[in-house]
Amino acid sequence: MSNADIYHEMIVDYSRNPINYGKIEDHDVTFHDSNPLCGDSIDIDMKIDNDKISDIKFHGKGCAICMACSSVLTEIAKGKNIDEVRNISKNDVLGELGLEHLQAVRIKCALLSLKVLKSALYSYLGKHLKNSDDVDKLKEEAASLY
Ligand SMILES: [Zn+2]
Repeated sequence: MSNADIYHEMIVDYSRNPINYGKIEDHDVTFHDSNPLCGDSIDIDMKIDNDKISDIKFHGKGCAICMACSSVLTEIAKGKNIDEVRNISKNDVLGELGLEHLQAVRIKCALLSLKVLKSALYSYLGKHLKNSDDVDKLKEEAASLY
């Protein structure tokens, strides 16, 4: 099998059996966003303890790429501290699934969950941080993803 086949199979697998799929009822922060172009619609719930993402789940519906990237992203973010999660880049997510050269139309499918995650973090930090520069920076990051 070529790499492209392997990545394709991973995406199909994740879309059928997404990881970290579900809700966290007693979440510390939740955020929703959608990608109207494709119909992807994702919520991310997080538990944050001592600046660490102790649990993260997503729910909603999306195409195979969206579901696969949400699975991969939540796996990357789980157990990390806020600063590490802030530094998760597009390519950390895209690279896991061989999607670095995705067409522009599908990029939104792939990066919706990262946008939701960063938006969730700034909404959390906005309530818990004194330094509003940090929050502004994070907002810019979320807005400039695609
Ligand atoms: Zn999509």
